Amino acid sequence: MQQPADRWVVLDVGEVIVDETRVWATWADVLRVPRLTFMALLGAAIARGLQHNEVFTEFGIDDWRNWAASVESTFGGFQAQDLYPDAIPAMTSLRQAGLRIGGVANQPAQRTHELQALGVTADVMAMSGELGVSKPSPAFFDRVLELTGADPDDVAYVGDRIDNDVAPSLAAGMRAVWLRRGPWGRIQQLPADLRPSLVVQSLAELAGRVDEIWGEG
Ligand SMILES: [Mg+2]
Repeated sequence: MQQPADRWVVLDVGEVIVDETRVWATWADVLRVPRLTFMALLGAAIARGLQHNEVFTEFGIDDWRNWAASVESTFGGFQAQDLYPDAIPAMTSLRQAGLRIGGVANQPAQRTHELQALGVTADVMAMSGELGVSKPSPAFFDRVLELTGADPDDVAYVGDRIDNDVAPSLAAGMRAVWLRRGPWGRIQQLPADLRPSLVVQSLAELAGRVDEIWGEG
């Protein structure tokens, strides 16, 4: 079904468009921690409701921010291998359904250009590093509305995290799509009082079920 012209699907980046396995593996390598151990403790931190930087504390690393430049140079920015295979096809399908597409997420500023260079195109794309606001702040979702020029009810925000994506986008009056992939998407559980418009396992599934976001009931 063709969607009205003023509706938007705004995508998170990490674990939505991009598989962040290589980012986290790079952190483990630079910090000289076994990858499996590092990622297991990341999962444990998520399960306990802690912020992801708590994983550094687990290893006694308090100065992790000082390692960011080294991690970035080793990582080398997003590469084609980092894209989830369904990301570009799903965005194309959503656009063909008449939707406008955004990519607005918590990421360093340079990721916008890196994604564009990989063929990820959107009507609006901006990262927290360039916006100066980040999730889960309400100001981030205000910026999404400014960038799209849309009414909140005409925006569906697609993210993998309950705390950073689903809860604050619903609080901003948007539709929320919870994508259950990546560590947060698999570990976090939906509180009884939160009602995303749609819960999917992949962007391919989202592309096939997008009518349900604004469906009746
Ligand atoms: Mg994410």
